[in-house]
Amino acid sequence: MNTLSNPNLFRQECYINGQWVGADESITVTNPANLAVLGTVPSLGVEQVNTAIEQAHAAMAGWSALTAKERSKILHRWFTLIEASIDDLGIIMTLEQGKPLHEAKGEIRYAASFVEWFAEEGKRVYGETIPPTVGSNRLSTIKQPIGVCSAITPWNFPAAMITRKAAPALAAGCSIVIKPASETPFTALALAELAAQAGIPAGIFNVVTGNARALGEPLTRHPLISKFSFTGSTQVGRVLSEQCASTIKKTSLELGGNAPFIVFDDADIDKAVASAMLAKFRNGGQTCVCVNRFYVHDTVYDEFLEKFTARVAQLRVGNGLEQSTDIGPMITRRAIEGMQVLLDDALAKGARLIELGNEIEERDNYINPKILVDVDDSMNIVHEEIFGPIATLIRFHDEDEVLAQANNTIFGLAAYFFSQDVRRVYRVAEKLESGMVGINTGMISNEVAPFGGVKQSGLGKEGSRYGIEDYLTVKYLCVDIA
Ligand code: ADP
Repeated sequence: MNTLSNPNLFRQECYINGQWVGADESITVTNPANLAVLGTVPSLGVEQVNTAIEQAHAAMAGWSALTAKERSKILHRWFTLIEASIDDLGIIMTLEQGKPLHEAKGEIRYAASFVEWFAEEGKRVYGETIPPTVGSNRLSTIKQPIGVCSAITPWNFPAAMITRKAAPALAAGCSIVIKPASETPFTALALAELAAQAGIPAGIFNVVTGNARALGEPLTRHPLISKFSFTGSTQVGRVLSEQCASTIKKTSLELGGNAPFIVFDDADIDKAVASAMLAKFRNGGQTCVCVNRFYVHDTVYDEFLEKFTARVAQLRVGNGLEQSTDIGPMITRRAIEGMQVLLDDALAKGARLIELGNEIEERDNYINPKILVDVDDSMNIVHEEIFGPIATLIRFHDEDEVLAQANNTIFGLAAYFFSQDVRRVYRVAEKLESGMVGINTGMISNEVAPFGGVKQSGLGKEGSRYGIEDYLTVKYLCVDIA
């Protein structure tokens, strides 16, 4: 990390109650690009996390007593510091996560945007007055911070998944204890260093590291936690949601997806291809809104496949720090092995791989982008999240058929489709069972719009004016003036 202009951003201790804290045991963090050791972070014990939660609870009284405007000023300082540190934060992220540096910096901008947005939204937490049913009553509501929050975040967006939860929590007047993924703790700890510099008081923003399963227990069961927010797989989300049920915590869950990308016969094919590249290969295909299944109408299938193949053949796989890299290493070798199981199943059932010509030797955490054709519903790859740079193409013939196929999944996070017919645009958008729909675009995420899924893709919305609601409770006041 000696390439950082501010070496203070590289922290190998947890940040709890305004202190940098170690532990007897540690976890080693490696660079997925070359498997070199980057450093270690503490493997905290459950008792240390319990203490962090208690301290966060004690600190909340002072923070929530500030005016929203006072909290906003502090959050604005955090936002400014994150933006000013973009080069260092980008390097830290690429080193631990693997994504190309320009994408890492893009994520830092995206992460900072949530801090800016919620610094403002915190000032607009309005209650209401309600016409009474008894003449002498005066009814109103106020919104109050829900209490101490906890969060568990994934490795695919090491910065943005933290600020998307922490910024609304802090703006609302809550404190938060966050456990980042063990693969990518350094970005989270750098954000904590900047939070300290910004003047966020001790105990309000805390980052704990350690064994996920062990620390998941206090973060989902401690009675002083009122709200738990998770981004990760549906499988783990289900377990953590059950754990939260024991103390009736409010939960937000951003879970897995199985995004369809439908190209209708009236689509602008060049635009569809350009959007497909972003929606499929961003972050090496490791995002929950990445396309899992391409459905292409029979009459435009050949044209789409030809143009898409030409673009995919230009993608370069390599170390994310190299400027020419489009796809960095996958997070772990195990992730690639999971993809290989899905590939083998599809190939055994009749799918075919297209030769691209730009393949490199697949070793360690590197996998080449792949296009799989002759895919059908019998293959597991259509139903499970690929989370890697493999595009699967399915031919379709009519709208009802493709809608039924697109909706035939337990997931409902993002969906994309391409059509220039305004009647079809609304018809299809309304019938797709997903929380977010990209129409003639493959890029939908930003701080101002509600991000979240339906079905088993999760609960709650992040970002937007809805994103702060999960960190507030509505209190009803009934005054009798007779
Ligand atoms: P991914 O496939 O993105 O790694 P996971 O759901 O496995 O998705 O992981 C998301 C986050 O949840 C990570 O921070 C991981 O450490 C954490 N995690 C995984 N399993 C558990 C568990 N049993 N209890 C608590 N946290 C967990």
